[in-house]
Amino acid sequence: MTAREDVLRLEHAPHTPIALFDEVGRLRGWSPAFGEACTLTANQLAHRHVWDLWLDLDAERWNDIWQKVHANGLAIVIQVKERCSCQGCNEIVELEIGRFLYDERWFAKIEYRRAAAWRLHLIQQEVLEAMAYGLPLKAIMDTLCRKVEQLAPSVTCSVLEVDPQLRLRHIASPSLPEEYSAAIDGLPIGAKAGSCGTAAYRGEPVEVVDIATDPLWEDYRQLALPLGLRACWSSPIKSSDGRVLGAFAFYYPRSRGPNLLERQIVRTCLHLCMIAMEHEETRSRAYEYAFSDPLTRLANRTRFQQRLSELLALVAETGQKVAVHYVGLDRFQAINEMLGYAAGDEILQSIGSRLATLVRDREALARIGGDEFALVQVGDLKDDDVAGQARRIGAVVEEPFIVAGQPLQLGASIGIAIGPEDSKTADVLIHNAALAMRRMKELGRGTYVFYEKQLNERMQRRRRTELDLRNALSRGELELYFQPIFSLKTGAIEQAEALLRWNHPERGMVLPSEFIPLAEQCGLIQEIGEWVIRKVCALAAKWPGSVGVAVNLSPLQFENSDLGKVVASALEVSGLDPSRLELEITESVLLRDCAISIAILDELAELGVSIALDDFGTGFSSLSYLQRFKVDRIKIDHSFVRDMNTSEGSLKIVRAIVMLAHSLGLKVTAEGVETDDQLAAVRGEGCDAVQGFYTGFPCSLAEFVEQLERVNGSAAPAA
Ligand code: C2E
Ligand code: CA
Ligand code: CA
Repeated sequence: MTAREDVLRLEHAPHTPIALFDEVGRLRGWSPAFGEACTLTANQLAHRHVWDLWLDLDAERWNDIWQKVHANGLAIVIQVKERCSCQGCNEIVELEIGRFLYDERWFAKIEYRRAAAWRLHLIQQEVLEAMAYGLPLKAIMDTLCRKVEQLAPSVTCSVLEVDPQLRLRHIASPSLPEEYSAAIDGLPIGAKAGSCGTAAYRGEPVEVVDIATDPLWEDYRQLALPLGLRACWSSPIKSSDGRVLGAFAFYYPRSRGPNLLERQIVRTCLHLCMIAMEHEETRSRAYEYAFSDPLTRLANRTRFQQRLSELLALVAETGQKVAVHYVGLDRFQAINEMLGYAAGDEILQSIGSRLATLVRDREALARIGGDEFALVQVGDLKDDDVAGQARRIGAVVEEPFIVAGQPLQLGASIGIAIGPEDSKTADVLIHNAALAMRRMKELGRGTYVFYEKQLNERMQRRRRTELDLRNALSRGELELYFQPIFSLKTGAIEQAEALLRWNHPERGMVLPSEFIPLAEQCGLIQEIGEWVIRKVCALAAKWPGSVGVAVNLSPLQFENSDLGKVVASALEVSGLDPSRLELEITESVLLRDCAISIAILDELAELGVSIALDDFGTGFSSLSYLQRFKVDRIKIDHSFVRDMNTSEGSLKIVRAIVMLAHSLGLKVTAEGVETDDQLAAVRGEGCDAVQGFYTGFPCSLAEFVEQLERVNGSAAPAA
């Protein structure tokens, strides 16, 4: 009897209940109820008809019956191979038809199996579909392994990934014992690293037919053998550009190599794994792009905000606290300008990795902006814990760098906001911490400050001040004060430093520390700076004698190539002798080292005015540029002068500065002398001139002129 005849016979046996099993042995359907024509043909099987359910038999019951009758020899089983007639398919369909008598009735069991290629095709479709739905790689690979194991029942399948440190990482192996997968995870690939580690290392398949004897398994066979794994055939999964991404392995319970079908399966699977893993790479790159900072590889602001929201939700339940540390680097812009952006990038990267040592698992770290970082601290935090962390942040930032052979030191200004106290929302908390950080910068940089509600009010006041400042010049509210600078040789007033004041109609006398930075930020500094130069020249030209006058310049004034012309014109209009005018600049102007600043300094030197280096010692104090630029005077910052009598370090610095300056032919002024002792000390170290509250406060023009006549009128004239 041929298969076709048998099928036909079934067609003509309408009362025979028939069960249909699919390619992996699952019960797919039953013939219709008794009495109805049963039209079961190979073609219909191939087209996967869904059959009406018959009676209350379930799959288990069917199998149960089948097992019994089969065992009792009551079944007739015929195997048939048919070519599928569905269009263009031309696949071989295997049919297994069993007929059996049970409970005095005839039953039929029909199983159909597609050829492996077809089934592989189905697996492939399923995997690609899963990828399209965005399922995680692990889940997709898990399904792949299970399907493959159904197709090739004697194998156990495993997929591993190779991480950037060239270690094997477990992705999927649903049928391997968990302890085995865990033991494999993290093993380095190598020339003798089992089947997978070696395959990934060599970039070619490794067939180990007997784990018990193969030398590649020497170090690992004790892991595999006790679990019944006897042979392992592993193939490298390669990307489309040839990189080894992972390994795809078949384990066997007996000592053997792969058969033809298995080779065909693995070919398809390697291709699928490649697509899935490359897809995952692209996905995680896209994720990284969206959520991380490409330079430091830290989280970016978006990711940080998300993470902070999660942590806030968490502490709302546990009653713990989060502290946001907003870190702004001090003087970073100057480094960028001085050493170039590549060096700046390098420093940002190191700062990133230094800060990373301070965050624990649950916490978060991000680069929020150019030179700004943020850290979250979580726990039962007391103010002391938070302050301790802020100090640690400051300390790691302050560790010196060596860039281009030069030691460099940065500082950090840190603003801290605490959740849920200051806010329960992430973006507000970050904003508050940022406000506190800006406040820290205004206060003079270099440490940390906690956010306070008043800060918001301060920011608003600042905005109002900015509006007022725009009108200050035209309303004549700016005024110049003068502080005398005494010669230590003659005791006469050698110079006056012009110091700007803002006579605010409501707030009274405002100090420059409050409005100069603001003027710099809102672009008013050029206009104000020019006014100061012209006004000072005009006033000083009328002073008795040949006393000098010093004007402070903002570094931003060097961005305007007109500065030389402005000074020249101020001298000409006022008739002030150029030798009486000194311009005070800070080191940052020299550090910029840009063509415009150099050209301007040359232009000023040609005019015959002198240049003083202000606040010396607080910046980079790279002394090499003292030779490169034409500087006439150094003003030692008051912080050194203040500490000279108490700190050996400060005393040594002052001594070194004086020696160096004198050897280069520069004059030295000590700033901020407040006591008799300090005066004696700076005199002892050989400074040429002195400025400070001890010898004279900044005062109005009238008071200064009066003092000038009094002091210089009676003091011995300068030699
Ligand atoms: P600076 O150039 O270092 O000026 C010296 C500052 O130290 C002045 O503060 C002065 O009042 C203060 N001072 C003088 N003697 C002592 C002392 O013995 N002890 C202490 N603790 N301080 C002393 P002021 O007038 O508040 O000016 C602050 C800063 O504002 C100046 O620092 C300067 O950088 C800037 N500034 C002042 N006027 C101008 C200006 O017209 N243009 C520009 N761009 N900046 C200016
Ligand atoms: Ca100054
Ligand atoms: Ca100064």
